[in-house]
Amino acid sequence: MQILIVGGGLSGLRIATHLHAAGHAFDLFEARTRFGGRVFSPSRNDDGRNCAYDLGPAWFWPNQPLIQSLIGTLGLRAFTQFTQGDLLHETNANQPPERHKMAMSGGYKRLHGGVNALIQAMVETLPSSALFLDHTVNSIEESDDEQAEFKLSVAYENAGKAKSSHYDHVVIALPPRLAAESIRFDSLLGDETLGTMRAIPTWMAGHAKLLAVYERPFWREDSLSGEAFSQIGPLAQIHDASQEDGSQGALFGFVGLTAEQRQDESLTLEDAGLEQLTRLFGPLAGKPEYVVVQDWINEHYTSTALDFEPLHAHPSYTRPAALTNVANGRLLFSSAELDTVNGGLLEGALRSADDVARQILKALN
Ligand SMILES: Cc1cc2nc3c(=O)[nH]c(=O)nc-3n(C[C@H](O)[C@H](O)[C@H](O)COP(=O)(O)OP(=O)(O)OC[C@H]3O[C@@H](n4cnc5c(N)ncnc54)[C@H](O)[C@@H]3O)c2cc1C
Repeated sequence: MQILIVGGGLSGLRIATHLHAAGHAFDLFEARTRFGGRVFSPSRNDDGRNCAYDLGPAWFWPNQPLIQSLIGTLGLRAFTQFTQGDLLHETNANQPPERHKMAMSGGYKRLHGGVNALIQAMVETLPSSALFLDHTVNSIEESDDEQAEFKLSVAYENAGKAKSSHYDHVVIALPPRLAAESIRFDSLLGDETLGTMRAIPTWMAGHAKLLAVYERPFWREDSLSGEAFSQIGPLAQIHDASQEDGSQGALFGFVGLTAEQRQDESLTLEDAGLEQLTRLFGPLAGKPEYVVVQDWINEHYTSTALDFEPLHAHPSYTRPAALTNVANGRLLFSSAELDTVNGGLLEGALRSADDVARQILKALN
């Protein structure tokens, strides 16, 4: 029985973990040259674990049991988002920001080493011979070879070369919109189903984050939590992103400009962002050791042209019936966007994966 998992984000890796635990072989194809997908926590130092900063997801919440149990199983350490001190609110660029004794992200949880520590730890539990980076799936179709032992034919690209293989089961572990826009399913999915998939927004695909790293979290010395929200921008919301022990300071901000507005080539987000941080937190904020903007709209293995449409609220995600029992249950779909409880979130990626893994294991046993 040959199983292919397409996508090495949290959802794909979770399915791989279940199959491996149940003793089933699989291949996992990941288009990027790294695992994690939207989880992306590059490290400033080369030790890879201790000084990583989350440029994708950073938080999980106390009411999310799967991610907490996974963190425990993998022996990783969570800590509470720093929120001690006053929050700043900026409404007028010519006046000092207002100070409020409140927290936006009280009780939110972060992971020591960044969320990528979770991805790395999961990858380490899987057989490396089953994991393939730089493998981009381009099309999936029913095999037209009557004698073919396997039922689904997968065309993919590796190191610029076109290749193909056959599998009994294929799990598409990518956001449905991205799958519909970037993979050809020929007769397997009709136009209506593809339309339904395109209509499911990929959570945060149109967003950008700015990160500024400092020698120390100097704002804490002024009884500021590092949290701010702004009607001026370019950062709409700012949070403390320092290392757990405060040994290195960092602030991150969600960019408030739309993906369309960010295409303006005269805009230098790093400069505009630092100018804003200086307005809020003083001159030291304008002199980071390091500043970076991660714009997810430019990530072709996450976002599509459809993600330029701004989202004004967290979508309410459902699992469309059209994505159930495709190709007699041989083509399955998993991603954070297919979970009805924690749709779009890390916990949703795990929930969706658990659901799909149960279906495959049932079919195999
Ligand atoms: C800026 C930002 C902030 C966020 N903040 C939070 C947060 O604080 N808390 C939270 O819970 N969630 C947050 N999220 C959402 C969270 O990142 C996602 O819920 C989760 O990572 C989704 O995992 P996934 O496996 O479903 O999808 P993905 O991570 O998108 O994985 C899909 C994988 O498929 C690969 N792929 C794509 N195309 C192909 C192809 N053709 N062939 C092979 N592989 C392919 C991709 O490279 C990727 O690795 C945030 C996301 C972003 C971008």
